Amino acid sequence: LSKAFPCLLLMALTSTTYALPKENRVPGGIAIIELPASKTQPEVNYGNYRVSVTRHEQKWLALVGIPLATPIGTQQLKLSVNNQVTELKFNVNDKQYRTEQLTITNERQVNPNAEDMKRIEAEAARTEAALSRYTETLIPDLKLMMPIQGKSSDTFGFRRTFNGEVRSPHTGMDIAAPTGTPIHAPADGIVTEAGNFFFNGNTLFIDHGSGFATMYCHLSRTDVKVGQAVKRGEVIGLVGATGRVTGPHLHFGVSLNRAMVDPALFLDQK
Ligand code: ZN
Repeated sequence: LSKAFPCLLLMALTSTTYALPKENRVPGGIAIIELPASKTQPEVNYGNYRVSVTRHEQKWLALVGIPLATPIGTQQLKLSVNNQVTELKFNVNDKQYRTEQLTITNERQVNPNAEDMKRIEAEAARTEAALSRYTETLIPDLKLMMPIQGKSSDTFGFRRTFNGEVRSPHTGMDIAAPTGTPIHAPADGIVTEAGNFFFNGNTLFIDHGSGFATMYCHLSRTDVKVGQAVKRGEVIGLVGATGRVTGPHLHFGVSLNRAMVDPALFLDQK
C-alpha cells in the first residue's frame, strides 16, 4: 500500500456519503447552484454574506440560503474565481406562508419597555455575530438529525400576530416536547454563543462551518459552553419554556449565509 492510500480512501468515502439538502428556491428556502468548472474553489457572495460552496460529484455547487424577506424574481450572486468577479443570477419563486395568531399573557413580551428594548438590541447584535460567522476550517455535514424526539411541525415562515399585533415571521421550526427532553446536536460543530435572551429564553448557537449554523431556543437547561466542540448526537441541553412561549417546545433555527431557512430541508424526516 502506498502512503497516499488512506487519504484517497477517505476522500472517496467523503464524496460518496455526502448528502445535499433539499432545494427550494423560495423565500426561506435554498438554491443549489452549479458553478463553472475551475481548478480552485470559487468564492460566492450573496449580499453581505459569503455563501457555502461545496464539491459534489466533480462539480462546484453554491448552497444559497434565501432570506424570508427576499422579493420574488431575479437575485444576484457575486462569483469570484482567480480574482475574476462575475455575476450569477437565479430566480426566487413565490411561497405563501400561513398566518398564525398567538396570545401571550405577558404583555411586555409583545410590547417591550425601553429597558427591555436595550436588552433586545444587545441580544440582536450577539445573534447577528453568531449567525454571520464564516468558518472555513470546518466542513459542514448538510444532513441534520432531528435534535429531539418530538413532533416536528411546518411552522417555519408563519406570519405571526401576537395579541392581534403583527410581529416578525417565524424563522425556525417548533418541535413540541415536554420540559426536560434532551436536545442533541444534529451535526458536528462549535458552540459560538449561549445565554438567556428576552424573546428566545435560554439559547444556544452552533457553527457547523462554511456559514452554516443552527440555534436552539427556550431551553430549561444548557449543557455546553461557548467555544466547546460538539459531536453529532451529543446532548447540548434540555427542552423548556423560557422566553416568549405558549408552552414547552424546542425552537430549532437553521441559518445559511445568515438567512434563516426551513430546517425541514436539512432533516431526513419531514
Ligand atoms: Zn419558534
